[in-house]
Amino acid sequence: MITLREVSKQYKVGRDWVDAVKPTSLHVEKGQIQGIIGFSGAGKSTLLRMANLLELPTAGEVYIDGQELTGLNAGELREARRSIGMIFQHYNLLSNETCAANVEFVLKAANVPSKQRKRRVEECLEIVGLADKARQYPAQLSGGQKQRVAIARALANNPKVLLCDEPTSALDPVTTLSILEFLEKINREFQVTIMLVTHEIQVAKRLCSQIAVMEGGVITEQLDRSRPDIEP
Ligand code: ADP
Ligand code: ADP
Repeated sequence: MITLREVSKQYKVGRDWVDAVKPTSLHVEKGQIQGIIGFSGAGKSTLLRMANLLELPTAGEVYIDGQELTGLNAGELREARRSIGMIFQHYNLLSNETCAANVEFVLKAANVPSKQRKRRVEECLEIVGLADKARQYPAQLSGGQKQRVAIARALANNPKVLLCDEPTSALDPVTTLSILEFLEKINREFQVTIMLVTHEIQVAKRLCSQIAVMEGGVITEQLDRSRPDIEP
């Protein structure tokens, strides 16, 4: 479902080039929850953001559900990204829009007709247990509730893939657990393949079927937790 083939990313900093990600590969099967763990600066976020071309790889190829994203033009990429949801550490909600409008926004961008949009917004807020908060603004919600709105937004276009960048790092342990349960439910009920970056090993152990360890811009290890003999 997700294939990163020999992707790398270099940034120019002053006169120097920094290797954020060195040529590295990762394959995630449909229905899996792939964790990426490692220390700060290891390249996790850059790797994740290359999976939907939020960061353009310096080299290498990205495939989602058999389609090579790195070969698409801008219009085709916009279309392909609709099947890739993303959530962030700091939620990235529009603060002057209601929860419902935050979710509806991505449906509008996908040219979904108004009546269908309203129905889908309701469904998505229902899935994350926030149907009653539709008309509230992000500032009126707790951190966990904001992340649930972000999950509802990410689900709106029925994605095949959900990319999660430190989704619980701003949350307390109890709220973290509830967000992980929602991610698990989305994976199970809607067969959404998940790739999740975290520096919190407990989060990865709680949620992920596979855990890749990143160090110095490369994946150094891939642990398959569905095989109990190598349970980390
Ligand atoms: P992680 O998510 O594991 O903390 P990142 O992917 O954010 O790691 O960053 C990997 C490395 O790339 C770090 O050294 C970081 O400073 C560098 N880096 C990330 N983004 C940029 C950027 N936009 N410009 C320059 N360097 C960057
Ligand atoms: P950080 O990792 O520092 O918290 P974020 O992940 O919150 O940063 O956001 C990084 C960048 O991604 C921002 O510049 C934001 O505008 C952009 N961004 C946020 N959400 C989306 C989205 N759904 N699609 C494309 N770009 C986005």
